This record gives sequence, structure tokens and C-alpha cells, in this order.
Amino acid sequence: MPLWWNCATLMSTAAGGANSLERPRPIWERNAGERFEAGPPEGDLATELAIVGGGFTGLSTALHAAERGVAAHVFEAGEVGFGGSGRNVGLVNAGVWLPPQQVRRIMGDGPGGRLIGVLGAAPAEVFALIDRYGIRCDATRTGTIHAAHSPHGYADLRGRAAEWQRLGAPVELLDRAAAARMIGSPAFHGGLWDHRAGTLNPVAYVRGLARAAVSLGAKVSTGVRIMRIRRDGDFWRLESDAGNVKARSVVLATNAYTDGLWPGLRNSLVCCSYFQVATEPLGARGAEILPGGQGVWDTGRIMVSVRRDAAGRLLLGSMGRAGDALSRRWANAQMRRLFPDLGQVRIETAWDGAIAMTPDHLPRIHRLADGVVTPIGYNGRGVTTGTVFGRAVAEMLAGAPEADLPLPLTRPGRVWAGPVRARIYDLAFTLAQWQRGFAPRS
Ligand SMILES: Cc1cc2nc3c(=O)[nH]c(=O)nc-3n(C[C@H](O)[C@H](O)[C@H](O)COP(=O)(O)OP(=O)(O)OC[C@H]3O[C@@H](n4cnc5c(N)ncnc54)[C@H](O)[C@@H]3O)c2cc1C
Repeated sequence: MPLWWNCATLMSTAAGGANSLERPRPIWERNAGERFEAGPPEGDLATELAIVGGGFTGLSTALHAAERGVAAHVFEAGEVGFGGSGRNVGLVNAGVWLPPQQVRRIMGDGPGGRLIGVLGAAPAEVFALIDRYGIRCDATRTGTIHAAHSPHGYADLRGRAAEWQRLGAPVELLDRAAAARMIGSPAFHGGLWDHRAGTLNPVAYVRGLARAAVSLGAKVSTGVRIMRIRRDGDFWRLESDAGNVKARSVVLATNAYTDGLWPGLRNSLVCCSYFQVATEPLGARGAEILPGGQGVWDTGRIMVSVRRDAAGRLLLGSMGRAGDALSRRWANAQMRRLFPDLGQVRIETAWDGAIAMTPDHLPRIHRLADGVVTPIGYNGRGVTTGTVFGRAVAEMLAGAPEADLPLPLTRPGRVWAGPVRARIYDLAFTLAQWQRGFAPRS
């Protein structure tokens, strides 16, 4: 198996390389208000901080390191945003996947409460960064809606709402009629409207982070895969076919696209794929769909996401890979279910990406060795987590106490049969896509 085998390539073998550099491009690239061009480095070089991976985590680390005067250099195998950061839904959500009470149960009141506090405030941190650096990423700040796909899902949302409200968070439980009005769909049993949250164009955001980091003196190289990392006296030596890099510390910001660079790291995750389908711009026909600009994801076990982009397209997504005909058929069936009055709509494109899941659905910051850390395993919540963890790691490497991190440093564990489970999930998601796409018309 080649060194650059990773979760994403595992899933793409059967998909004809959907995650390769030739993959279908996310719609975000078409109307991204930010551009960012870079290329491989020329020859050997030295830096204080080497960062592997050019997504939200790597670029937030570089930006915040540069703000603190630390010389940082990002090395990205593809282009900026090639991984999950360029392929996601663009929901800027607060907290983690689990409800706050469950986070405290798993981590304990102190650390759990701290993580919830930091990530509860994370959308505000993302929006402040966007303002500070004038990032043109079509950010909306009117919240997101977690929509109930069933009465049971609504009961779950009621529990989440009560706990967030107890913590003083501005969240609002929507009854069925209110959810129908806001989403423009009769399909949901209610929703949880989080006023802290919002949406953005993720490609534009990640490119904006890169631009801002470079403006402060950080360096970003693309098209360069780091093949090996080894200790060299007081330094770390990173080897690539474009040359060697000598660095005092290293951040691996490779997440679901982690390859064999650090032995065992990819086995600490199970990766799942998530696909999205974008329609043509809907114009006046879409006026009643999400008129407030919120993004939506539902409580279903196989989650469905719904949002609009700045051009008025409808974006639908779910777990699984993008298969051209199958995903289009699935999207048409979803549109009939969710927006029965919409009629026939042309689909422009479909793409997918890999999500890094941890066994307890909580993110991690691992210390891999002295001077090498990796924030990882965001469980589908990376716009905020990547930005905040990148900032926190940069602060620590610039001298802030380790205790200031959003969560304690850990060592990677091993997930039992991770790659096999990833395959099984993928197969199950494909079957679900097929079943829903071929459901009889009502
Ligand atoms: C389809 C999809 C939808 C999602 N929706 C949302 C959402 O709406 N909201 C949300 O908050 N989160 C969402 N997520 C999750 C979020 O996108 C990720 O958590 C986030 O992008 C992770 O960012 P990152 O910078 O840590 O990693 P990535 O963006 O995945 O970047 C890792 C990078 O490392 C590079 N790399 C790997 N190995 C090497 C190497 N050896 N040398 C050089 N480079 C290397 C890869 O090329 C890749 O670009 C979604 C994810 C997917 C896939």
C-alpha cells in the first residue's frame, strides 16, 4: 500500500478516485470570493514551525502563529482546502456533535465544561476572524437549524435546547409550524435554532485564512507531500520530494486525510464519507426555501443537510460517496420529499469528502512526540473546531501554558478494525442512497 494511502483514498478506490486530485470540484470553488495561489518550495529550508496540511486547522495554526511572531510554514499535498475544508457544507456550528450534558459525562465536569464553553463561543471567533482579515466568504450570521426528522428526534432536540438554555446559550426550540416556515418544508417535526451559528463558503474561508497568514509572514507551499518525519538533534526533519525541512516543532493538521506519515495515527480514526449535490440557482422559485439564510441538518441516523449558496442554489447532502447518477437520483427524491412544490430542477454537480470520526465522537489534540502535536477527529464539526484548535495550538507553541488548550493533550489510541468499519459504513450509506433514490413516488 503506498505511503499516501489514507481514509479518503480508501473510500475512493471503489468510487473511481472521487477523492483524487481529479475529483469533481466542490461548487464552492465556482463563486469563492477569495483566490489563493502557491506552489512547491524550492530546495531545503528551515522554519520554527512546520505545519502539514492546508485546511482550517493548518492555516489557523499558521495565522495565529504568525500573529505571535512565530515563523510558520504550511505544506499541503494538494491545493489549499483540498481536504475536508474545501468540501464541507459550510455550517459554522457551536459546540460538538454530542449534547453538552453527554460531553460532561464522558470528559468530566471540568474538562467537558471547558470544551463546551470554548466551542460554544467558536462561531463568534470564526466571524471575528472573518471581520479582522476581511475574508470574502459569504458568511451569514442568522443561525443554523438542527431539524427533527421524527418525533423522537424532536424529543432529543428538546433536551439539547434545555441544556444549552441552562448554560445561557441563545438557542430557540421551533415547533413544527415554525420550522416549516423557516425551512420552507413541511417535512420536519420541529427544530433547534442556534442563533450563535451561521454559514459560509468554506473554500473562500480557507483561502482567506491562507491569504491572511501569508500577509503576516507565514509561508504556504502546495503540491508537496511530506513523506517522512524524523528527529534530528533538537530539530525535526521533514522529507518531501521537493526538499527537506528543518523545524523546531511540527503540527500535523491532516485529519481525515491523514496518511502513513505518522505511524498508527490513521488507525486512531474511522473515516466516513459525506456527499453533496448542488442544483442550478433557483431564482424566484426558491424564495420560500430558507429565506433567512440558515443552514439545516437533521436528526436522522443517516443525516441530511440542506442549505442555499450565495447564488441561490440548493445544496443537499448526506452520508456516503457521490456517485454521479445515484446521487442525482437521491437528490431528486429528496427535493420531492422536502420541497414538493419546487418541480424539476437541474443538478449542476456532486462531490464528496472524508470525515474523521472518533469512537466517543469527541475531538482530540494529541501530543505525538516532544514538539509534535495533531488536532484531529472533529466528527464533522471542523469549521469552528479547526479554527479554534489551530489558534490554541499556535498559542501553546508560542509559550502559552498547556492548560489553556480547549482540552487536555492525549496520545492516539487504536480503533478496532477502523478501515474495515469505514468500508462497511460506506456500503451501508450507498445502500441507503440507493433505497431513498428509488423510493416510490408519493
Ligand atoms: C462533505 C463534508 C461536509 C462537512 N460539513 C461540515 C460543516 O458543515 N461544518 C463543519 O464545521 N464541518 C464540516 N465538515 C468537517 C470539516 O470539513 C472538517 O472537520 C475540517 O475540514 C477539517 O479541517 P482540517 O484542516 O483539520 O483537515 P482537512 O481540511 O481535511 O485538511 C487536511 C489536509 O492535509 C493534507 N495532507 C494529508 N497528508 C499530507 C501529507 N503527508 N503532506 C502534505 N499534506 C497532507 C490533505 O491534502 C488535506 O488538504 C464536513 C466534512 C465533509 C467531508
